[in-house]
Amino acid sequence: MRSRYSPVLKRSLRAALQDGKARWTRRYGTVAETPSLTTPPSSVLDEALNATSLRNTWTKDEIRQIYETPLMKLAYAAGTVHRKFHNPAAIQMCTLMNIKTGGCSEDCSYCAQSSRYNTGLKATKMVTVDSVLEAARIAKDNGSTRFCMGAAWRDMRGRKTNLKNIKEMVNGVRGMGMEVCVTLGMIDLEQAKELKEAGLTAYNHNVDTSREHYPSVITTRTYDERLQTIQNVREAGLNVCTGGILGLGEKPSDRVGLIHTVATLPSHPESFPVNTLVPIKGTPMGDNTPLPFDATLRTIATARMVMPRTIIRLAAGRTTLSEEQQMLCFMAGANAVFTGEKMLTTACNGWDEDKEMFERWGLRAMESFEVEALREAVSSSTPLDGPVVEKSSQSVL
Ligand code: SF4
Repeated sequence: MRSRYSPVLKRSLRAALQDGKARWTRRYGTVAETPSLTTPPSSVLDEALNATSLRNTWTKDEIRQIYETPLMKLAYAAGTVHRKFHNPAAIQMCTLMNIKTGGCSEDCSYCAQSSRYNTGLKATKMVTVDSVLEAARIAKDNGSTRFCMGAAWRDMRGRKTNLKNIKEMVNGVRGMGMEVCVTLGMIDLEQAKELKEAGLTAYNHNVDTSREHYPSVITTRTYDERLQTIQNVREAGLNVCTGGILGLGEKPSDRVGLIHTVATLPSHPESFPVNTLVPIKGTPMGDNTPLPFDATLRTIATARMVMPRTIIRLAAGRTTLSEEQQMLCFMAGANAVFTGEKMLTTACNGWDEDKEMFERWGLRAMESFEVEALREAVSSSTPLDGPVVEKSSQSVL
């Protein structure tokens, strides 16, 4: 039978196989060699891939170039960076408890807990210290190693008694050997220091979206006020957890802007939660179109490229992802999930479901403070010269 390949093409392919270089043969006999596949032309993506130090000088245009890389190439590069600096088999299981539900004075357009929208959510008082400790114990018994507490407040002004109780909660959960994070709205430096003193590991305060898109989402506090709280948290010596919500009607450039904001902070946040909007009826964003999955994956992969040592948290909206989509996120750099009965006011994947999923894919739950070395490295901007989490490297995928 006659071959469907021309003799010229066959000769060229044979030559390429022999000398190990990629060649491209034009149909009419002109041979043009492309550079070797192992030395592609330099690009921002390559620079991020081969970085030797943490960078917080990223320009928006550089991040845009990474974000716009063909998706499988981007995901592969992000997976490569991830494997250099994290154990890709280890996923942190966190549980988030709402310690004060609803009645919030802010106007965040996506939130069920704002008192401005009629979502049918009943506002409650702050829960007791004992109920928090009981919930943390259950979370720990089920494999969570980080316990987060959220209160629907604008800020902590005039909340001395609440702060005292929260410090007790923090102290108690920390005493169980778990990492502890709280999200209580805006806080000043003194409050951040008190929380640190009580044993708090990290404070969450999301910037939500890009500076440009932010006024279309929230009008009752400014982007700079958000950044001020993050600065207070950092100054108090706490780990910073700050990320965003995708699907707020933003453009791709806003997802780039969100990553740019956090990747150019004086030091990268230790934790970057990636939420996708769970539309709540009654809120201004209740009818938003669901975000296509590729935007979530692209955001995670880009964040991994520019913040190689940060924990990237697959947060709200994970219930809408298939198991295979979650795996793509883990391959491209996500390494934490929220697990439990509920995530604030929205549904959450359960512990058993997650443990079974981990088992199927050869993943495991991270231990408490497993990434402490990594976090220290983030703030000290030590060279990126190898895996930080040595102890678990035997189970690297
Ligand atoms: S996101 Fe937080 S600050 Fe905004 S309305 Fe909801 S509870 Fe309040």
